[in-house]
Formats: sequence, structure tokens, C-alpha cells
Amino acid sequence: MILHIDMDAFFAAIEQRDNPALRNKPVIVSGNSARSVVSTASYEARRFGIRSAMPVFTAKQKCDHLIIVPGNMKKYQAVSKEIMAILVQFSPLVEPVSIDEAYVDIHGCERLFGSSEQIARAIKKTIYAKLSLTSSIGIAPIKFLAKIASDMNKPDGLTRIEPAQVDDFISTLPIQKVPGIGKNTMNQMKCLQIKTLGDIKKYNPHLLTLKFGKMGPRLLALANGIDPSKVEPRHTRKSISGETTLSKDISDFEAVKQIILGQSQRVGKDLRKKDLVCGNVFIKLKFSDFSQITRSRKLDTFICSSAAIFNEALSLYKKILLKKKIRLIGVGVTALKDKHTPVQLQLLQDPDNHKEQWESVDSAVDSLSEKFGSHIVKKASLSQITPRRKFNDK
Ligand SMILES: [Mg+2]
Repeated sequence: MILHIDMDAFFAAIEQRDNPALRNKPVIVSGNSARSVVSTASYEARRFGIRSAMPVFTAKQKCDHLIIVPGNMKKYQAVSKEIMAILVQFSPLVEPVSIDEAYVDIHGCERLFGSSEQIARAIKKTIYAKLSLTSSIGIAPIKFLAKIASDMNKPDGLTRIEPAQVDDFISTLPIQKVPGIGKNTMNQMKCLQIKTLGDIKKYNPHLLTLKFGKMGPRLLALANGIDPSKVEPRHTRKSISGETTLSKDISDFEAVKQIILGQSQRVGKDLRKKDLVCGNVFIKLKFSDFSQITRSRKLDTFICSSAAIFNEALSLYKKILLKKKIRLIGVGVTALKDKHTPVQLQLLQDPDNHKEQWESVDSAVDSLSEKFGSHIVKKASLSQITPRRKFNDK
């Protein structure tokens, strides 16, 4: 059995725990710009229809006595660390998926700690005793169902899907509840009259691949109760990214370029700090009408220099035909691996590839900014940038 642990209203719950004046009140944690979005809403705020990712001004309209608390990422990360430390006491197979979520494979731990349900209760109890925070846990034979189960009885929930219930559960599970199904995919689902995950089985793999690409076969496997993904304990993250909600919508190329540059530098720095390299670069744009796109490219080689990330991100951006103004820009990297993992050297080294030089520039810059703060060294073209860049809470 696999457990999925998800903390309840994580950021807001921490703030309410640490400040009694916030308890039992509608609270959101968010950035403080006029265009910020809700990062987390307390359950009291959710009663007013306030949800994560909602613009703060909309949230305020829904609840006039809403309390807005600025986020404190450092504190949340420290709490997250403590939670993960509690989880590994129960099983070595812990896979953190985000700051407040993790999968735990408890295979073989039953002898030590009892049934899956007893283990889940013990985890909830330990987290509450140590951190005064509630969590919700889903238990299921496969990963994606454990995640769905943890969401079913929030807050402070415990939901178990028995192996014998899997088929029934899948045949009635609304398709939009399946992780990874976005708005665009939903439109396709409607055309095909797919309402539940079970409905996927009406179509053959060929058509599903045609309609949904790589996701097609995966959906079919899930519909048949098969989730090939395992709980993978990992010491590194799967992606590093940053995004900026702009203080006003833009479409000017130079302005966009500056923001992509700044973010590439942040992402590159983060990557190098963790001694990682990446094999994939992506950009994300959100437009004035809140629609969004992402574009990514698999690289021929692994990189970690900010300049290389910037070049890739910019070339991805150049291929996009802009029809609307841009509201948010994100740059990120995936396919991460340890820098020191041996790789086969490329047979043909591009003589114009100044990768190594850039990497030594980067490490010099990193150590300077580590000592004196990130304002100390910037790429020349960044120093003209106006302070319109605002970072949101992600
Ligand atoms: Mg959560």
C-alpha cells in the first residue's frame, strides 16, 4: 500500500498556529503586490469561495474582512523538512512531491508499525504532536489513487481505497480529478464524451495517443488500475523554476528578454548551489486573459550555466507567436541530475560552445553574491531593469 500525505492549508495553517490572532479567521497567504495571487487560503477563507491561485483582489471581493499575510518561505521550508523527517521514521521510501506533500511506500513496514491504517494514524498523530498541524492521508494500492484519496476528506482526513474497490472507484472517478488533466485536455475529453476515468477504456490506445500524445497510454493504464510509477525517494528535486507576475501586462520583446534573463540567472544559481545539471529547459507564459502555455526543449547535453539556460529559454520564447499581452513569465529546468554523475562526453564538441568559460564565470558570480548579496554582480543588461519584477510565492 502507498500513502499520500498532504498537509492541510499548509502555509495558512502555519501562520494561524504561530499567531493566535489569526486562528478561526479567514486568512490567506500571498504576495503583497496588487496583482498577487492566493498562495494558500485557510479553511475559514475557503468558506467564502476563496481558492489558491485566485487573484488577491478577487479574494478580497469575496470576503471583506479577509486577512492577508505575507508568505515566509524559509519558515515553511523548515517545517517541511521536519515533516519529511517524521515520514522517514516510518519508511525509508519517502518521495516528497512538493513542500507539503509526499508519498510513502509502506511495503514491508507493517510488521514494525501495524496495518497501513495504523501507520497513517501514527503519522498524523506524530505530525500533530510535534508541529501542531493537521494533515490528510490517502491510502491506496497505487500512487495516483493515494493522491486522490488524500484529497477526499480534507482537512484532517484519512481515506483508504481497498484493492477490491479500485475498479469501482476508477469507473466513477471524474476525469478532471486525474492528476495532469488540464483545461485543454478537458475540452478534448468532452468531445470524446469521457466523463470518468473508466470511460477512457472505450477507446483504443492508438486513438488515445493521437488525441493526448504520451498521456494517452498512461491514462489507459490508470483506467485499468495500473500506475507504473513507483515511490522514488530522492535527494534532489525534479525541477527548479521561478516565475514572475508582472506589475503590468507587457509584450515588448526587450522587456520580456530582461525578465527571462533575470530568471535564468536565479534558476542557474539555484541549480549550481545544489550541484545539479539539467537536461531540459522550459518557459511558461500566462497571458492577459489568464490562459497559459509552456514550451520546453530537451537538450543534447546537460547544462548549469545561467547563460546557457537563458539562451535556451529565449529561443523557446522567440518561437511563440504572441497574440496577447503577457501577465506572467516563468523559466525552469527539469531532467535534473547530480553534476558529478559521470556522463559520456560528447563526441563532437562545438568549438564555439563557451560552456566551460561560462560555468567558471557563473561560479565566480555565485560566490561573490553569496558573500555580498545578489545585487553585487549582475549581467550588464540587467542593471537597467526597472523594479517591476515581483516574485510570487511559488
Ligand atoms: Mg496541501
